[in-house]
Amino acid sequence: MLFCTPEATPFAKTGGLADVCGSLPLALSRLGCEVRLVMPAYLGIPRSALRPVARVHIPLGDALYEGTVLEGALGNGEVPVYFVDAQFFHRPGLYGEEGKDYPDNLARFAFFCRAVLEFLKDLPWHPDLLHCHDWQTALIPVYLKTIYTELPCRTVLTIHNLAYQGVFPPEQFPLLGLPSSLLTVEGLEFWGKVNLLKGGILFADVLTTVSPTYAQEIQTEEFGCGLEGVLRKRSQDLFGILNGIDTTTWDPAVDPYLPQNYTIDDLGGKAVCKRVLQEELCLNVDEEAFLVGMVTRLVEQKGLDLVAAILGRLFSKGGQFALLGIGDPRYHDLFSDMARRYPGQMALRLAFDEGLAHRIEAGADCFLMPSRYEPSGLNQLYSLRYGTIPVVRRTGGLADTVVDCTPKTLANGTATGFVFDRYDPEALWEALERAMAAFQDKSLWRRLQEAGMRGDFSWERASRQYLQLYARVLKKEGGNL
Ligand code: ADP
Repeated sequence: MLFCTPEATPFAKTGGLADVCGSLPLALSRLGCEVRLVMPAYLGIPRSALRPVARVHIPLGDALYEGTVLEGALGNGEVPVYFVDAQFFHRPGLYGEEGKDYPDNLARFAFFCRAVLEFLKDLPWHPDLLHCHDWQTALIPVYLKTIYTELPCRTVLTIHNLAYQGVFPPEQFPLLGLPSSLLTVEGLEFWGKVNLLKGGILFADVLTTVSPTYAQEIQTEEFGCGLEGVLRKRSQDLFGILNGIDTTTWDPAVDPYLPQNYTIDDLGGKAVCKRVLQEELCLNVDEEAFLVGMVTRLVEQKGLDLVAAILGRLFSKGGQFALLGIGDPRYHDLFSDMARRYPGQMALRLAFDEGLAHRIEAGADCFLMPSRYEPSGLNQLYSLRYGTIPVVRRTGGLADTVVDCTPKTLANGTATGFVFDRYDPEALWEALERAMAAFQDKSLWRRLQEAGMRGDFSWERASRQYLQLYARVLKKEGGNL
């Protein structure tokens, strides 16, 4: 099994995909799966521990490009990692700089995909399955079924966020070396352009995404980003597997960022975390004030317009709000203005701060995620583990991980948070009011906390599901098109 990915922690990261590709191979290896990984050798990756193992020559249109494959390892050496090194990746950014994509991203990732397959042709190790991730590696399934048919590999393509598809001008299509019959609506063409993810969706043996609900949602017009029709065609081969979290970094019992650690049996440390957080953020120090936290990229996806619309009501009821994030200047201005108007009740930190993210997860009573869409989501899982009750919108991974508190779910012990459906401020406020009322009932609140803290969101659980899926792909008959 070979993981083909544009990013993996600790080598290179711009999003959650890197966490998946840094953690899942290790979890699979622990279950006895023989797994290796291949990714680009970006500029920031230290070369000293890597050794060259192969050279590749790749045609792109009429030109021939050269690259070297370097070998290193993930974890304590248990997962070998191949890095494709070439001029294309010797840049400060992974995909662009200062918010602008590199104009030759199609060439860069076509080069990467072909380099992986050229390298595999000569490698004595023969993976039976290639697990590809996002648009950057979506050409691999296309090439395997067109110009690399001699390689007997099956493919899984995981979509981490459908909003990113790798769409390019049609003039660049010839660089791919694919038959022109593929630049049609039945192939990679998408509204007159080239769409690499669409190619992967059509050609991969199996598709996955990062939660069962998101797997359903992306087949609808609302969430499908224009690819819902193609995804519906592959509906029989599309599965959702929820991401895991790093349960060693995110563990309230040992988390070094917290002023005091705590466990499910003794939540005393959590009260200390709340007090210290209020002090750190210049909020009024008050054990009884309902403290709502949020750590997020400040982008439209995250439902920040709903939050802004209900904050006044939260403050009028004596609540507090701690927000950590960076992103769109529009939100910087909006929330800075709020923070000025509500000193002592609203704290804003426009920064990326790992330590503070941990302290908000631990110190807040409630964690807010009113997202428009959320493929998997990590913060609600951290919250559950930290005994901080999530208030979330019923979408994607949020719908799969947070159980709404109702008389029934309370009675059977499954309730872990507060969930609302409609994307509007009233629906969010209704859920938050229910949370505030529950907060007054200490024993009820404690039951919610314990149910969340007992959940299993480890990579081990996810990797067992992936293993089952891999077995299924290898048994599958024939092709797809
Ligand atoms: P997304 O992948 O859409 O950004 P997730 O909830 O899946 O949303 O993951 C976000 C991750 O990034 C979490 O680990 C969160 O704690 C972290 N994060 C986001 N913004 C910040 C920030 N400003 N400071 C620290 N961590 C952040």
